[in-house]
Amino acid sequence: MFKVDVDKDKCTGCEECINNCPASVLELVDGKSEPVEMDECLGCETCVEVCPEGAITVTEV
Ligand code: SF4
Ligand code: SF4
Repeated sequence: MFKVDVDKDKCTGCEECINNCPASVLELVDGKSEPVEMDECLGCETCVEVCPEGAITVTEV
């Protein structure tokens, strides 16, 4: 299992992470990225790599 954290102070809502996540884990909620399907996370860290703000961290739990 993986835990996805979005730092909402850093997130600009650009949707890069949402558009590139292969498992549709992330959605835009109130203008910020939010992990709504965390159980589906593959731990690939694509979201971490594409986020221009460094707002996402993925940890194995
Ligand atoms: S680690 Fe991969 S599967 Fe998990 S939220 Fe990020 S892009 Fe999606
Ligand atoms: S890529 Fe980063 S800044 Fe853009 S919506 Fe996702 S978390 Fe927010």
